[in-house]
Amino acid sequence: MADETTRLKGLIGGQAAGKLAEHRDLHTVGDLLRYWPTRYRTHESDLSRLRPGEYAVVVADVSRATTRPMQRRRGRMLTCTITDGQREIDLTFFSAYGHEGKLVPGVRGIFAGEVTQYRGQLQLAHPGYTLIEPGLDDATRGLIPIYRHVPKVHNWTIAECTRLVLDHLDHVTDALPAQIRAQRSLVDRTSALRHLHVPRTFADVEAARHRMRYEEALVLQCVLGQRRVAQAAERTVPRPQQERGLLEAFDQRLPFELTEGQVEVGEVLAAEMARPTPMHRLLQGEVGSGKTVVALRAMLAAVDSGGQSALLAPTEVLAAQHHRSITAMLGDLAEGGMLGGSEIGTRVTLLTGSLSTAARRKALLEIVSGEAGIVIGTHALIQDGVDFHDLALVVVDEQHRFGVEQRDALRSKGAQPPHVLVMTATPIPRTVAMTVYGDMETSTLTQVPRGRQPVETFVVPEDKPAWVERTWTRLAEEVAAGRQAYVVCPRIGEEGEVLETEMFDEVVGEADDDSGASNGAAADTAADHPGPDRPLASVLETVAQLRAHPALADLRIDILHGRMPAEEKEAVMTRFAAGEIDVLVATTVIEVGVDVPNASVMVIKDADRFGVSQLHQLRGRVGRGQHAGVCLLMSASQTDSARERLTAVAGTNDGFALSRLDLGQRREGDILGARQHGGHSQLEFLSLLRDEEIIIEAREDATALIATDPTLAAWPELAAAVAQRVDSEQAAYLEKG
Ligand code: ADP
Ligand code: MG
Repeated sequence: MADETTRLKGLIGGQAAGKLAEHRDLHTVGDLLRYWPTRYRTHESDLSRLRPGEYAVVVADVSRATTRPMQRRRGRMLTCTITDGQREIDLTFFSAYGHEGKLVPGVRGIFAGEVTQYRGQLQLAHPGYTLIEPGLDDATRGLIPIYRHVPKVHNWTIAECTRLVLDHLDHVTDALPAQIRAQRSLVDRTSALRHLHVPRTFADVEAARHRMRYEEALVLQCVLGQRRVAQAAERTVPRPQQERGLLEAFDQRLPFELTEGQVEVGEVLAAEMARPTPMHRLLQGEVGSGKTVVALRAMLAAVDSGGQSALLAPTEVLAAQHHRSITAMLGDLAEGGMLGGSEIGTRVTLLTGSLSTAARRKALLEIVSGEAGIVIGTHALIQDGVDFHDLALVVVDEQHRFGVEQRDALRSKGAQPPHVLVMTATPIPRTVAMTVYGDMETSTLTQVPRGRQPVETFVVPEDKPAWVERTWTRLAEEVAAGRQAYVVCPRIGEEGEVLETEMFDEVVGEADDDSGASNGAAADTAADHPGPDRPLASVLETVAQLRAHPALADLRIDILHGRMPAEEKEAVMTRFAAGEIDVLVATTVIEVGVDVPNASVMVIKDADRFGVSQLHQLRGRVGRGQHAGVCLLMSASQTDSARERLTAVAGTNDGFALSRLDLGQRREGDILGARQHGGHSQLEFLSLLRDEEIIIEAREDATALIATDPTLAAWPELAAAVAQRVDSEQAAYLEKG
């Protein structure tokens, strides 16, 4: 008898065991059982879906078989035609020997091999095959599970090994408590494994998948539930709002009125920071909804109560901009301790990786002495050697660039855990908020400040030269009217550069899924996105082209990208903010948070190379002042999906809808921040988009379990699964570095 830790070697054929270990890292019974079929076949396959180059497994009937002598060699070759009832394709065997007796018209088999093209026709050359017993009807034969191909191991060999292993299995640990299984009508794990590997019907498969999804959701929610319990037990210094402090003085000099939402969220933050338990709050709000002011007010309240605040930004450009704009907004309130500064004022200190040694030493001193009430920085803030006098509040801007671990690292800088506010501009669907951010409470800013103009977006196909020309004249017109422009490119254009941003990789769905893919199915099918024939547009080439363009002759054009020295970046941004640069040609360094209200037009080159949410973020850089914004998405891509994405972005300013679309097009493991390939930290069955109901139910169950039994002591198998998930998340984080 076997359990999930039993080695495969000795249990199944040695050759298969060897290949499974070598190519797919499958060593134990548990490993093999977790090698889920990606899809299933009934008796028929759709031969019209075969594509050259793919490894295909088809179930079909032999309709004809002929042998003929070979022309240049001895022996006879066999050509055999198989059909799915609609289409036919040929199988060729260069030696008929051993096959011609078996592959006769009328037999049915499973055929597996690489699809090749011969004289314009698809064929399988030398496929492996196994014949299916005649006379069995579909109901008794069941479904055929199709596994991700393992080199030199046929699909049916994997199926047979799995069946064998299942027959030997006596104990299967089941992370789902029996009471929850009963309540939610879920099959036990043993049945689920059988249903997945040896299914009779699609209903079986669905029941099993549903159960597996539930299990993943429950484990995930237990992880988050435990984290919430741990957080609730933490103690920190309450930071109640003070009268006649910085915050009041700041509010009095605000040049605009706060929106209702900003006021409301402000009150929530104030109430939470006044408590002795650290705040863990996520603030989401559309691009331009004014999150920074909300955060700044909380930071000022923290300073009023005697602590320090840190603002963690994802890039140097953004950190520098925050430093500049916050210092400007505070005016003399930011000159604390200086001659002529306000008495209640504080110091705003910038700490990034590119400071000179002297500047860094000065910044560190201001931070450790407490002189700096507000510290703004990049992940340089997280490093050792950065010590705070009394860290009260951590604000993380644009969360999607930071992981939980980085958040925690900064939290550990406080003598007691500080309050945490995470801001994100990408609206987060509810299910993602409940999973990825499930250990935080959420606030949302839904309004944008009054008088804000929406951004109009157009797609400019590059095969229409007149449109392209019109784009540049439009840009020139905006500048003539006193505005400024961004031109965004996916590359810098230096030799040996590494792309600054993770380009959008299209995930091609499984072409041949009979029953709705599990997530595993998509894992292996990421294909290179068919882009334009030329290299992607770069900042350096584009700036040269624009400077040479007659319509743009007199414009002040400059560049910004991540490889420029920090002071240069800072200088360019300062000049652009001051209106001394008309057109800024940049990479996505400007993607998040850059705020120059006079910028009204943005051209994005090779726009199809960016994700939908990323495009939405980018265009959020224009239309921030009283001028309407225009965004022009240039693209040379002809693929339907690229067109669809760009049209979607052009069609709506609803970041929420776009982030759902984005989510649907990315591998969900990436969204969870997990490893790209394999690894148990990925969700294998659960889909954050599709399985909303499951996630809600699992959250209820997890919350109830943890409320009565925080360590899950009564459910050791669940506790083990939860611990394993935590481990693999940490491992994935370490691996990412
Ligand atoms: P985001 O939410 O994208 O981070 P910001 O905080 O950068 O948005 O705000 C965008 C712009 O709107 C900034 O220039 C900010 O000063 C301005 N702003 C913020 N709140 C208001 C308001 N209530 N009324 C008018 N302008 C505002
Ligand atoms: Mg912002």
